[in-house]
Amino acid sequence: MSAAEAPYYEPVGHERELFEYAFHRKLPLLLKGPTGCGKTRFVSHMAARLGLPLQTVACHDDLTASDLTGRYLLQGGETVWTDGPLTRAVRHGGLCYLDEVVEARKDVTVVMHPLTDDRRVLPLDRTGETLEAPEDFMMVASYNPGYQHVLKSLKPSTRQRFVALELDFPPPEQELAIVVHESDLARERARALVNLAVRLRELKGQDLEEAVSTRLLVYCARLMQAGMPVLQACRATLVEPLSDDADVREGLMETIRATFG
Ligand code: ADP
Repeated sequence: MSAAEAPYYEPVGHERELFEYAFHRKLPLLLKGPTGCGKTRFVSHMAARLGLPLQTVACHDDLTASDLTGRYLLQGGETVWTDGPLTRAVRHGGLCYLDEVVEARKDVTVVMHPLTDDRRVLPLDRTGETLEAPEDFMMVASYNPGYQHVLKSLKPSTRQRFVALELDFPPPEQELAIVVHESDLARERARALVNLAVRLRELKGQDLEEAVSTRLLVYCARLMQAGMPVLQACRATLVEPLSDDADVREGLMETIRATFG
């Protein structure tokens, strides 16, 4: 895919330049930021810009090192080694993106370590190979510093192997461009929605674990663009996904009614 066909990404700072420097200097990159702020879109955009294949792994607490590296699978009576996504990226080049890396189990970080320092190697105990990462291999990981439990945070020995970049919800002008691009909603209606998001985000921290994301704003705009009445669209996207607490939801609805009445 050429840069012209790269998935749409609205830059909010110099993140594309940082990504490119990191790639060319063979440094791994850690993206920090709340859910729905554009981390995944940014990575797929950069993969396309740099012309690299992308392996994405959504990490969860059952994910083991073998899910990343590969395993022997039974095929027609024989056991055949099958590369996992990380091994594929190391063997053939490209980006390997570990989304929500703090969710992964400890043995996953052990696999990451020799790949994220000067060695840039992936030892595969099961096949006896030690793969050297090619020039165009890059590891990118992301996590959300907002909702980590004490038990689940990245150890300094892991995080200090990465160049890190903080992403947040885009400033209003950029968020407006994103909402319009992703939903085709009329600009003035989208602007009202973005202004509402700014107000709703100010309520964050009081009773809400997470603020309304750009992703949810895009959902809201798509429902409005499809003809759904604005208060219904807002309830379904900016209220219900954020809280189960009746009082909190009513508080959010009040702010919404005050905007769209
Ligand atoms: P994250 O990976 O941080 O949870 P995503 O990358 O999945 O978030 O972003 C969610 C959605 O928000 C995207 O599908 C896209 O529609 C929109 N979005 C957020 N930020 C941007 C941006 N800077 N440029 C383009 N789209 C964006």
